[in-house]
Amino acid sequence: MSVYKFNSILFDSGWKDNIYITTNSNGNIEAIDDIQKNTDFTIDLAIPGFQNAHSHAFQYAMAGIAEYHPINKQADNFWSWRNAMYNLALNLNPDEMEAIATMLYSEMLKNGYTNVAEFHYLHHDKNGNKYNNIAEMGERLISAAKNAGINITLIPIFYQMGGFNTPPFEQQKRFINKSSDEYFNLIEKSKQIANANDNAEIGIGIHSLRAVNKNEIIETDEYNIKKMPFHIHVSEQLIEVEDCIKKWGARPVEWLLENLNLRDHHHLVHATHLNSNEIKNLAKSNANVVICPITEGNLGDGIFPLTEYQKHNGNWSIGSDSHVNLSPLEEIRLLDYGQRLTTHNRNTFTNKSSGNSSLNSFKQMWFNGKKAMGSNRKNYFEMGQSLDFIEINSNHHLIYKTGKNHILNTIIYSLDSKVIKETYIGGKRQKNSKSIKQNFKDVIDKIRVRL
Ligand SMILES: [Zn+2]
Repeated sequence: MSVYKFNSILFDSGWKDNIYITTNSNGNIEAIDDIQKNTDFTIDLAIPGFQNAHSHAFQYAMAGIAEYHPINKQADNFWSWRNAMYNLALNLNPDEMEAIATMLYSEMLKNGYTNVAEFHYLHHDKNGNKYNNIAEMGERLISAAKNAGINITLIPIFYQMGGFNTPPFEQQKRFINKSSDEYFNLIEKSKQIANANDNAEIGIGIHSLRAVNKNEIIETDEYNIKKMPFHIHVSEQLIEVEDCIKKWGARPVEWLLENLNLRDHHHLVHATHLNSNEIKNLAKSNANVVICPITEGNLGDGIFPLTEYQKHNGNWSIGSDSHVNLSPLEEIRLLDYGQRLTTHNRNTFTNKSSGNSSLNSFKQMWFNGKKAMGSNRKNYFEMGQSLDFIEINSNHHLIYKTGKNHILNTIIYSLDSKVIKETYIGGKRQKNSKSIKQNFKDVIDKIRVRL
């Protein structure tokens, strides 16, 4: 048992002072009160951890090296970036994948993320054959998360085709499950592995409408009777929207609204290009959108129509996706500034009851991010749940004299991750170890040469 005293801590109802949280030996919360007692740890200033609802771990190995663009040729865009990403995917073995993911996850912790939803489709070996353990790569990702200390929700992804009614390309051979039965076997095997690890949960998902046949998309949704979080990329690129209209006679989100019973366990990643009906009906369905502003900006996807979506009370969370940058502060900031720049107003995150940008956006990110992990939560800190939080440097020159109404705003709008002193999972500090970095460097040396 351990007792933590928080001089100030952010609850969903607002900041509280002099709070005591008691945990059991597993780091789960047993009591929350303000009754003075002997303490094992005193934390001056804390907030809950950020939720990273969309990640492709292996892409971290190419962060920063996709910015050398062709000159005097056609424009560089999402599709040329995708080729570079495929080359990387074709080259990784399970050890390399694990080393990259371990480094990535430990950097996520350093940046304040306590949970990650891993959208995982690199299932097979370099020849496109199944590993003896069909969930080998997923197991490596769970093991990476465990080693780094982060909570993971593994989402093994169904990837069947190269495009609408198009067979898979050679470059996609490591991603492909030919049938839903094959894919469901992968889900069941992955579930067993996740169940055996206390840092892991499991989700289900479709890569995108272009990557799986109509019937199998519906079948996968129906297979999910336990309502695990269901993730899908959708409407990220305009070409994809046009193709969907051409081939299936509907816009992608329109098709999902018509053919799946979208509910609050559905997580639509990006959903960048929406018309006004889609915005309204998506919000009404209570499904969630996972917005990845930095990656969407980096890939030139477009700007999610958040202002309109929020008018209809739409749910959203954030994800670092390709990991070109790992700061949740920057994700939220960029999300806001995209709206400010297009609407010419500053109040993106206000609602009927509060004008506090960071408190409002943090709530959306956190509660819907938790849903993306498969956890429906009512409070930031709850009995029986792991004590996960970020310790903030309360002595920072922009923080130490700042009133409570402005602390989180100062962190999100004016500071970077250096203001985070420590990230705690189950009441324990998580640190980068030297061996994690060395393993990553050994892999990256080879990979960056190959690219
Ligand atoms: Zn993605």
